[in-house]
Amino acid sequence: MNKQHPVIVVGGGLSGLSLGYALQQQGVPYRVLEASGRPGGVIKSLHVAGFELDAGPNSIAMSPALRAYFEGLGLGELLVEASAAGKHRFLVRNNKVHAISPHPFKIISSRFLSGAAKWRLFTEIFRKRGAANTEETVADFVTRRFGKEIATYVFDPVLSGIYAGNVDRLSIQEVMPMLSDWEKQYGSVIKGMMKSKGMGGRKIVTMKGGNGLLADRLGALLGKDLQLNNKVTGVWLAEDGSYELSVSINGLVSTLKASQVVFAAPAYATAYAIETLDYSLAAALRQIEYPAMGVLHLGYDKNELPAIPDGFGFLVPSAEQKHFLGLIYNSAIFPFKAPEGKVLFTVFIGGAQQQEVLQQPAEMLQQQVIAEVNALLGIKVQPVMKNFQVWEKAIPQLNVGYAEVRNKVARFEAGHPGLYVAGNYVQGVSVPNIISSAEKLAGRIRDAQ
Ligand SMILES: Cc1cc2nc3c(=O)[nH]c(=O)nc-3n(C[C@H](O)[C@H](O)[C@H](O)COP(=O)(O)OP(=O)(O)OC[C@H]3O[C@@H](n4cnc5c(N)ncnc54)[C@H](O)[C@@H]3O)c2cc1C
Repeated sequence: MNKQHPVIVVGGGLSGLSLGYALQQQGVPYRVLEASGRPGGVIKSLHVAGFELDAGPNSIAMSPALRAYFEGLGLGELLVEASAAGKHRFLVRNNKVHAISPHPFKIISSRFLSGAAKWRLFTEIFRKRGAANTEETVADFVTRRFGKEIATYVFDPVLSGIYAGNVDRLSIQEVMPMLSDWEKQYGSVIKGMMKSKGMGGRKIVTMKGGNGLLADRLGALLGKDLQLNNKVTGVWLAEDGSYELSVSINGLVSTLKASQVVFAAPAYATAYAIETLDYSLAAALRQIEYPAMGVLHLGYDKNELPAIPDGFGFLVPSAEQKHFLGLIYNSAIFPFKAPEGKVLFTVFIGGAQQQEVLQQPAEMLQQQVIAEVNALLGIKVQPVMKNFQVWEKAIPQLNVGYAEVRNKVARFEAGHPGLYVAGNYVQGVSVPNIISSAEKLAGRIRDAQ
C-alpha cells in the first residue's frame, strides 16, 4: 500500500457520502468521486405546489446513536417524529383496507386472516425445525412455518414495502435473519420472538425540509473532497503499491492514484470497475437484481375527501393484482409535508413483483393507479397535485444466492488489501444501516492507512 495518496471512495450516494464524512472525522485523507452532477444517489427531495416530497427515503428508523449523528451534522433540529397515527398500519385484502397491528404476528385478533391461517400461526410452535444451513426464500420459509396464506397476505406485502422485493426470490437469511435464527435456536419463530421480546419498534422520523437535506449537508461538509461528474471505470494495482483508477471526468478520461479504494457505487457499476481484477466477483455482482420503481406523489384537497383511516398507510399483497405496492399517508404522520387544507400520499409502483407495470406509458399508469387508490379509499375526486419519479434501478434484491456474493466479496478484499466493497447491497439498504456501517468501515480503513 502506498500511503502518500488519499483513500478514494467511488460513489456519492449515502454510502459514499457517509463514508467520506466518517473518514474526514477520523483524519484520513480521502476523495469521494460521484459519477453524476449531484450528491445523494436515490436520496432526493423536491417542493411542488407547497408539498414537500421525498422521492427516495421517506422515513428513517431512529436510534439514540443515529440522533447523535444527525446532531453532529447540525441537523438534529430538523428531525420530526411521526405522529401517534404512524403506529396504525393497514393491509389490503379483497379490495378493502384492513387495520392490522404493526407487529406481523399480532394480526391474529384481526379479521384480516382466515381461521385456518390463524390456527397455523398458533401451532407454529409445534412444527418441526427445517434443515439447517440451507438458503431459503422468504415464501418457502414462511409457508413451511406458517402456511401459504400468511406468506401471501402478510410477508409478501411487508417485503414489498421494505425492499420492493419478491418473496419467491428474497432470501430469508438475508432480509429477516432473526426469523431463521429463532427457528434454529428455539425450534420456533414464535418462541424465539417471545424470548427476544418481539421484533423491536424504533421511532420513525423524517426531516423537515426533506430527507434530501441529509445528502446536501454531507455533500457540503465534504466540500472539495466530493468530486461530481467523476465516473470510475477501472482499477488496477500500480508498481509503487498504490491503486490507480481510470476516471471519466466530464467525459475526459484521467488516471487517479489512491492508497485504498472503497467501491460504494451500486453493484452493477462496481462490477464494471473491478472486472479485470476479479471476473468472478464482477459476474456475481451483475446477477444482483435491481428492479425499477416508480414513486407517485398525490396531493388532494382535504375537504373533498371522505374520512381516510389515519395511519402510516397501507400495503397491497401482489395477489390483489393492483398496479401499485403500497401507499404512505405522509400528511397523517408528518402534517407539515402538505400545505394547510391538503393531504399527501406517496404511492410505490413496480419493484421485483411488478416490473411489467412500469412498461406502460407513464400517464396511463398514473391514471390507473389513481383510480385504484381512489376506489380503495372511497375518493371521488382527482388529485390537485401529482409528481412521478422513476428509479430505473432502485433497490438491490438480496435474493437466494446472495450468500455467494458475500463469500466472493470477502475473498476479493482478502486478495486485494486496501480494496473494499461497500454500498447498500453489502451493509443493508436502510439509511441507519448505511450510516452505522460507514463508521465501522472508516475505522478499518484508518487502521490500515
Ligand atoms: C424509492 C426508495 C425509497 C426508499 N425508502 C427508504 C426509507 O424510507 N427508509 C430507509 O431507511 N431507506 C429507504 N430506501 C433505501 C435507501 O434510501 C438506499 O438504500 C440508500 O439511499 C442507497 O444509498 P447508496 O449510496 O448505497 O446507493 P445510491 O443511492 O444508488 O448511490 C450510488 C451512487 O453511486 C454513483 N455511481 C454509480 N456508478 C458510479 C461510478 N462508476 N463512479 C462513481 N459514482 C458512481 C451513482 O451516481 C449514485 O449517486 C429507499 C430507497 C428507494 C430507492
